[in-house]
Amino acid sequence: MHSWPSPVVPAVPGEAAPLRLHDTASGRTSEVAADRVARMYVCGITPYDTTHLGHAATYLTFDLVYRLLLDAGHEVHYVQNTTDVDDPLFERAERDGVDWKELGDRETDLFREDMETLRVLPPRDYVAATETIDEVVEMVGELLERGTAYVVDPAVDGYADVYYRHRATPDFGYESNYTAAEMAEAFAERGGDPDRAGKEHPLDALLWRVQRPGEPSWPSPWGAGRPGWHIECSAIARNRLGMDFDIQGGGSDLAFPHHEFSAAHAEAATGEGRFARFYVHAAMIGLDGVKMSKSLGNLVRVRELHAQGVEPSVIRLGLAAGHYRQDRSWSDAVLDEARTRAGNWRRAVDRGAGADATAAVADLRARLADDLDTPGALAVVDSWADATLAGDESDPGAGEAVATAVDALLGVWLGDERG
Ligand code: ZN
Repeated sequence: MHSWPSPVVPAVPGEAAPLRLHDTASGRTSEVAADRVARMYVCGITPYDTTHLGHAATYLTFDLVYRLLLDAGHEVHYVQNTTDVDDPLFERAERDGVDWKELGDRETDLFREDMETLRVLPPRDYVAATETIDEVVEMVGELLERGTAYVVDPAVDGYADVYYRHRATPDFGYESNYTAAEMAEAFAERGGDPDRAGKEHPLDALLWRVQRPGEPSWPSPWGAGRPGWHIECSAIARNRLGMDFDIQGGGSDLAFPHHEFSAAHAEAATGEGRFARFYVHAAMIGLDGVKMSKSLGNLVRVRELHAQGVEPSVIRLGLAAGHYRQDRSWSDAVLDEARTRAGNWRRAVDRGAGADATAAVADLRARLADDLDTPGALAVVDSWADATLAGDESDPGAGEAVATAVDALLGVWLGDERG
């Protein structure tokens, strides 16, 4: 599947700081220390509704990671999937009377446009679940061969689905660090099927779902059907990045069960150590202090904001005003502050000469490299803009230098307002 066009990322003079990130599994913040080619996998959307600010915050978080890795001299092999076979997609297609495949393709196109609007760097491999069914079938076969998966007795309800024994790896739970009670609750809430009769244990995860009436299917040795959710990311990531890749990313609601099982499936199938070195999670975005959700009907979509004339850079600055690991709210006040900030920065940059840019850019890099401290990073640029607007002209090339750094490292464009 094609990705989206990449914005140009200018080189920033001076020296990059080594990137440190918080790893959910260890609970520690440490240097990523990737090889020359850094490897990152970020879980993509289920394409049935266009990009809201919660999605945007997640992909913008990993866009910063990408930009900082580039700044530090790495090439980045970035892989993202789209879960274009899943229950929510079928339900929406059914409700709207459209074909699930058309709905998925249309929403994926809208997502690409939104990412391009926000100047998000595209993944090298943008992969649809429907393109990788053979990879899933292969991995389910490996898990069955190793005795880490089983077929449910069809006498139970007529469907011989394949499930994963959740205790198959010795350290299951290491990624999320959830307690048994937290696992049970999250599994039920986030797409699991604890009450499915015929499973050995409520937490065992679906690997292959035999076709039900009206559902799409693909051939497999266990009958026509479709993949479970976690195995999809497991197979896509392993086959493109190998095991022990640098960063597995996504929203914090993916820490369990999705990332735990994606990791466990690949570890059980290969026996080759851990799936990823860092598990990085972006927090949730609310609206005016209330959780943003489809059921509450309070989603703020990137497309709608943009149509109302909100600059993409203002959306980026609004979301970056809080730390990526902190649940936070979008509001008119956040939007106003971001607009004011973008205006100040642009006025300062347009002066040409300004306060010392070398020190400001070094501080900006240092803040971002410290587990993406965006509030600190924005404060650095605010101080530089304030000093410049107060009349400091000590650095003749400051405007261009700061604009370049803000563009490359924050993805914030301070040239002419556009789009
Ligand atoms: Zn995933």
